[in-house]
Amino acid sequence: MSNYFNKEIETMPLEQLRELQSERLVEQVKHVYENVKFYHDKMDEAGIKPEDIKSVDDLSKLPFINKDDLRDQYPYGLVGVPLSECVRIQSTSGTTGRRVVAFYTQGDIDIWDECCARAIVAAGGTKDDVCHVCYGYGLFTGGPGLNGGSHKVGCLTLPMSSGNTERQLQFMEDLGSTILCCTPSYAANLGEAINERGLKDKIKLKAGIFGAEPWTEEMRKSIEDSLGIKAYDIYGLTEITGPGVSFECEAQAGMHVQEDHFIPEIINPETGEVLPDGEVGELVFTCITKKAFPLLRYRTRDLCKLTREKCSCGRTHVRMHKPMGRSDDMMIVKGVNVWPSQIEAVLLKQGYQANYQIVVDRHNNRDSIEVQVELTPEMAADNSVPVEIREKKIVDGLKSMLGIKVDVKVVEPKTIVRSEGKAKRVIDRRNLYV
Ligand code: ADP
Ligand code: ZN
Repeated sequence: MSNYFNKEIETMPLEQLRELQSERLVEQVKHVYENVKFYHDKMDEAGIKPEDIKSVDDLSKLPFINKDDLRDQYPYGLVGVPLSECVRIQSTSGTTGRRVVAFYTQGDIDIWDECCARAIVAAGGTKDDVCHVCYGYGLFTGGPGLNGGSHKVGCLTLPMSSGNTERQLQFMEDLGSTILCCTPSYAANLGEAINERGLKDKIKLKAGIFGAEPWTEEMRKSIEDSLGIKAYDIYGLTEITGPGVSFECEAQAGMHVQEDHFIPEIINPETGEVLPDGEVGELVFTCITKKAFPLLRYRTRDLCKLTREKCSCGRTHVRMHKPMGRSDDMMIVKGVNVWPSQIEAVLLKQGYQANYQIVVDRHNNRDSIEVQVELTPEMAADNSVPVEIREKKIVDGLKSMLGIKVDVKVVEPKTIVRSEGKAKRVIDRRNLYV
C-alpha cells in the first residue's frame, strides 16, 4: 500500500491534471512575458503572443532555452520578480564547467520542499524517521532540498552535509538514522566503510534516496546489498529547482515527474521535434509554478524517455527513465560513442565495486582509453585468479559492450580516490590539447 505526501495531486486523474497544467502554463507565460525581458524579446522574435498559449497543447509553440542562454543572462537576466521578493540563491555544481545561479521566492522554496517531501514519503518516510542528509549543503541544491523535504514530512533531520565518513557512521549508529540521502557514489562508499567496520548490524537504515549523478541498476543492487536497504532514485537540476523534480516510488520503475509543477517533454536533440512517449531523446522542462527563475522549455541535455503506463503505486504522474548520463557525458573514443554508465555496468556485473576511473588520452592522433578498477578485498585475498586473467575478462566484456578495445588495469583495493559528492569518473586528457 503506497503512501503519498499529497494524495490528491499525486493521484490526480490525467484529464484533471492536464487542466491544472494548462491553467498554470497560461498564467506562467503571461508572467514571464511581462516580467522577463529575455522572454519578451524571444517570444516577439518568434511571433508569439501570450494569448497564443491557451493550453498545454500549445507548449511546443514556445521557443527553447538552453544552458548558453543562462550563461548569457548571468546573473539577473532571467529573474522574474523584484530581487526584494527573492529569498535564496543556489548554484549548479559545475559538473559541465558552467555554473548557473538560480533564484527562489519563499513560494518557490515551498514548492521545492514539497517535491522533496513527496520523494521521502514515496520511499516510505514518515515523521517517525531519522533522515540523514549527507548531500553537500551550501550552493549545491542536494543538501538544502532534502533538508527542506525532511522538515516538511516531520522527520528528525540530520543535516550532516558531505564528507567526514567517520562522523557520518558514528551519528548513523548513535542516532539511529533510518533514511539516507546522498549521491549513489557516496552511498557505495558508506556501504563499504560500514561493512569493513562490521557495523551492518548496528545501523537501522531502511531506505536511501540517491541521485544527482547517473547510476546503473547494477550499482543499485550493490548498494542495497551492502547497506541492507531499498535504494530509491531521485532526479533534479538546479535550473529547474533542485532534487525532487522527479523521484521513484516503491515500484522502482522510473521516476514520477512532479507534473503539477514541471512539464516534461522529450525532443530530438538535432531537430527540436517533440518525440512520442517511449522514445529516447533530450529531456526538456517547463516550470509552471515557480516565479523567481521561471524557465520555459529548458533543454537539460539529459537523455532519457517517458512512460505513461499505469504505475502500481497509484500515482498518475508520468515516469521518466533513469537518465544514463547527459549528452555532455558521452565521449567519442576511436569514433565510437562511449558512456561511463556502460563501463560501470560491465564492471559491476563482473563483481567489482563502483571504484573505477576512466582515462582517455590521445597520442599521434590516436585515441586511447584505459579503465582502472579496484579489486574488492575478497578478490585481492584470492590468489587463484591471476590479475591478467581478470583484466582480460574485463577487456572482453567491454569489447562486446562498446565494440572497441579498452585497456584495463586492475589495481589494489583503496587506491582510487573515493567521492563524497558527485563522482568524477572520467579524466579526458584530450581536452588539454584543444
Ligand atoms: P551540474 O549541471 O553542475 O551538475 P546540478 O547539480 O544541478 O548541476 O546537476 C543536475 C544534473 O545532474 C542533471 O541535469 C543530471 O544530468 C544529473 N542528475 C541529477 N539527478 C540524477 C539522477 N538521479 N540520475 C542521473 N543523473 C542525475
Ligand atoms: Zn509509481
